[in-house]
Amino acid sequence: MTEAPVRRGAARQQSAPIVVIRGGTVVDAASERVADVVVKGGRVVEVGPGLATPRGATVLDAGGCLVSPGLVDLHAHLRQPGAEDAETVETGARGAALGGFTAVVAMPNTDPPVDSAAVALEVLSLGAGAPCHVAVAGAITVGRAGERLAPMGELAALGVRLFTDDGAGVQDVAVMRRALEYARGFDVTLAQHCEVEALARGGHMHEGSWSSRLGVPGIPAEAEEMMVARDIALVRLTGGRMHFLHLSTARSAALVAAAKAEGLVVTAEVTPHHLTLTHAELAGYDPVYKVNPPLRADADVEALRVACAQGTVDAIATDHAPYAPERKDDTLDLAPPGMLGLQTAVPVVFAALGATVHAHGGAPGSAGNGAGREPTSPRMSAREVLGLLSWHPARIAGLARDQGGDQGGPIEPGAPGNICVIDPAAVWEVDPNRLASRSRNTPWAGRLMTGQVRHTLFRGEPVVVDAEAQR
Ligand SMILES: [Zn+2]
Repeated sequence: MTEAPVRRGAARQQSAPIVVIRGGTVVDAASERVADVVVKGGRVVEVGPGLATPRGATVLDAGGCLVSPGLVDLHAHLRQPGAEDAETVETGARGAALGGFTAVVAMPNTDPPVDSAAVALEVLSLGAGAPCHVAVAGAITVGRAGERLAPMGELAALGVRLFTDDGAGVQDVAVMRRALEYARGFDVTLAQHCEVEALARGGHMHEGSWSSRLGVPGIPAEAEEMMVARDIALVRLTGGRMHFLHLSTARSAALVAAAKAEGLVVTAEVTPHHLTLTHAELAGYDPVYKVNPPLRADADVEALRVACAQGTVDAIATDHAPYAPERKDDTLDLAPPGMLGLQTAVPVVFAALGATVHAHGGAPGSAGNGAGREPTSPRMSAREVLGLLSWHPARIAGLARDQGGDQGGPIEPGAPGNICVIDPAAVWEVDPNRLASRSRNTPWAGRLMTGQVRHTLFRGEPVVVDAEAQR
């Protein structure tokens, strides 16, 4: 089903070069070992230590680096069609490749939204030549209006595996029940943006000590948690399958943990920024920190980190949300919510989760990326963190190899050449003007990051080499 009629990159694959990824630590779901990787004709052909360099091969140095299956982002706003001044599929995909992603799921809240086969096909064809796989999520309801169900069958036939009205949650519980029952028939997953509008309306940040101090209307944690609880009940009622987008509170994580313990088929993602930043960032009323769901309290950040370590959270997703500068450079109440995420996800997440690198003497991610906060959650291994960024989301997106896709590894002979090489010790400064995105709304401007994507291979082609996009 994931093999959409628009077969991306097939022609390019034939002419893909021979590439040797030399001297890194190969980390995937199966194992972690020091090895070279030879990629030819778009596929991994050999993995092992000290491999000979085939004639005519491009050699990519991976000394001190992690060699991982390409990362998979379940949640990216590529803004096309409709807001090409903020981002296009091309610029978003380039940023994704620079961030180590070999697949992104484009969110359907475009203009028009992806609530028909025609719009889905438009996005898929825009992504056909992109330097990463561009999957598309479909809307749950027509126009994302929350009333009538979108033609899920038509969209599923095009390979759409995830459906969401993201930007808004489906408010009507009867509509959501019907959507879950309908989705079961097509073997697709519903992804909910959990927010009870009646509670969230008019809020610009987390409702708590900082919103009181700043005099800014808040969005209570309960606006999210009530919908998480409601949808868990609906999953129980229907036997459906649900993915929770961008969870942001401690109690949301606890609800999902309880649902999983009960055996319900639910998965959850968190964003890099909800693992690092708190509502205290709003102290200067800077709209770059306005995001939905809002940045929460310290205890929420800590709980989400623990939820990652304990397996309650299945995936890290960027919620990359570009906005043209003139829209975001407004007052806090008027600026739209959202921030960039694709190019900074790896160092931010490695720092937040204290990812340690066992093999090959690489340095652990510095806590400096986390706005000076020391993680108190259990330190995760680099392999565990890469699972959250690659092979777990690949499965949720329906893009894993045994689902008919080509993402998530493992890195072994015969596997598709979708690989990212991460230097965990490289230090670099985030310069908004040098990001691939058309927008500049990163909360990390001017910050030093520890950890950088050095190379990305997409279907065997080096699309990023030495942290530079090749096309
Ligand atoms: Zn959302």
